[in-house]
Amino acid sequence: MIGLISATAAGAAARDRLAAAWPDRTRLYEGPVADAVRRAFAECEQLVCFLATGAVVRIIAPLLADKASDPGVVCVDEGGRFAVSLAGGHGGGANELARAVGEVLGAEPVVTTATDAVDLPGLDTLGLPVEGDVAAVSRALLDGEPVALRAEVAWPLPPLPVAAEGAYTIRLTDRLVEAAEREVVLRPPSLVVGVGASSGVPAEEVLGLVETALREAGLSVRSLAELTTVDAKAEEPGIVEAARRLGVPLMTYPAGELSGVEVPNPSDAPLAAVGTPSVAEASALLRGGELLVPKRKSERADGTAAMATCAVVRRPGRGRLAVVGLGPGARDLLTPRAKAELRRAAVLVGLDQYVDQIRDLLRPGTRVLESGLGAEEERARTAVEEARKGQAVALIGSGDAGVYAMASPALAEASDDIDVIGVPGVTAALAAAAILGAPLGHDHVSISLSDLHTPWEVIERRVRAAAEADIVVTFYNPRSRGRDWQLPKALAILAEHRAPGTPVGVVRNASRPDEASRLTTLGALDPATVDMMTVVTVGNTATRDIAGRMVTPRGYRWQTAQEGAR
Ligand code: SAH
Repeated sequence: MIGLISATAAGAAARDRLAAAWPDRTRLYEGPVADAVRRAFAECEQLVCFLATGAVVRIIAPLLADKASDPGVVCVDEGGRFAVSLAGGHGGGANELARAVGEVLGAEPVVTTATDAVDLPGLDTLGLPVEGDVAAVSRALLDGEPVALRAEVAWPLPPLPVAAEGAYTIRLTDRLVEAAEREVVLRPPSLVVGVGASSGVPAEEVLGLVETALREAGLSVRSLAELTTVDAKAEEPGIVEAARRLGVPLMTYPAGELSGVEVPNPSDAPLAAVGTPSVAEASALLRGGELLVPKRKSERADGTAAMATCAVVRRPGRGRLAVVGLGPGARDLLTPRAKAELRRAAVLVGLDQYVDQIRDLLRPGTRVLESGLGAEEERARTAVEEARKGQAVALIGSGDAGVYAMASPALAEASDDIDVIGVPGVTAALAAAAILGAPLGHDHVSISLSDLHTPWEVIERRVRAAAEADIVVTFYNPRSRGRDWQLPKALAILAEHRAPGTPVGVVRNASRPDEASRLTTLGALDPATVDMMTVVTVGNTATRDIAGRMVTPRGYRWQTAQEGAR
């Protein structure tokens, strides 16, 4: 919950805009300001104060305890120009909150914690438990001192400017090691513990077994990702409570699925009780990975029979492939989500000219794998290979990356061992349409005139179908030096069904610095003015040139009305 506090009328107006934008996440604190701030501080995870920073500093100073547990506090000035992350920048999420408040109110976020100011992710904000000398290693990263990354487990970390060797180290491990001096240990959620138990097992027995099994195998409980068991034990109180106390989810699977998993230590007892020869080993192994600790039983002080078993598996880190559309060119047509994914990726794969378009957005330490025109299949393969190594990868394309672009060759290569995140982009057809007016107001289609990968007969059949169906057509890849007859041919097919006066929009380099657009007609278009940086949009029989803008009505009634009037 985010507590909102304001004092003046202007503050209250901004506060109300924020409350309206986030109705379920915000709560207003009214009454005397100091008292309202104190109450919100005690009750909320985050505060947005429409008050002077000095006033807020004085009020919260005696309340501050620990940067890991304090709420995040953001101040917005009277003019609504700045959203200042005042306290709890990382742990309290105030830096992120300042950015989000800035988006809603149109205010500039002000963030002063060092790692954010120079654009490095804070080591304590990676979403992984962290141990060791965070302050010293962060300072080394900031100062450009060599920091080595020693990753014992593949994990899709965001970019970090690390070197092969260094006096400082970041260690990524699930093993029970102490952080050395000048070292930070990050704990990937790589361990899965399968649990089997008899009915009525005490939570302490499960908990003790899990912790002992991990400790004796030299593994850190902070890398525990989940407990697993059979469906029949989904409500077993001792297991449910153990998962709760360990702070991990409990995943359960049907006995039928578990009995299909090959395990080293099957037995008759679970087969009789729940219908599978293995619960602990089978459920932990179900999603793949390496069995580090085979089935072991709990030990009871009074010597009675064990009520719980467990097994430990290390699962491989799942790589992350973001397929990101950059939009047609202009920076403000790149979506915030695309920007976030570009900064999340440690490896960026793309065509060199597209990489140039967004290079300034990349975080220090991003590995860039760029290639020239034509190497599409290879780019796709590279991106998938990197993701399968457990990396966080972004594969970029102009417009939308799924439209005549990289998404399909990449996903054709990818198997289900990586996560894929698609980020849509503004396509050339949409960017051109906005420039031309409203040409896509009714049914429309995009057709690529490139016959490099598609036989011309197929393309021609589609153009003919669109012509007969009176659909607005946007031609992509319309004309290049080697392909000059296709566009005239396609236009001629459309002209069999549309009048010579049908509006045609030609847009070159939409939203780029040398953008140019022209509204002409099917009869007057000179194909020689069209090249590969261009899209050509041909209207349907109802499309009109109105005040120099290309307008396709929502239906055909307008056309009948106009014709009636003539
Ligand atoms: N993925 C892109 C399309 C790539 S195909 C998208 O979604 O828009 C390449 C073709 O797209 C070019 O030959 C050209 O026809 C068109 N194109 C891409 N960007 C353009 C722009 N900014 N202005 C005009 N046409 C563009």
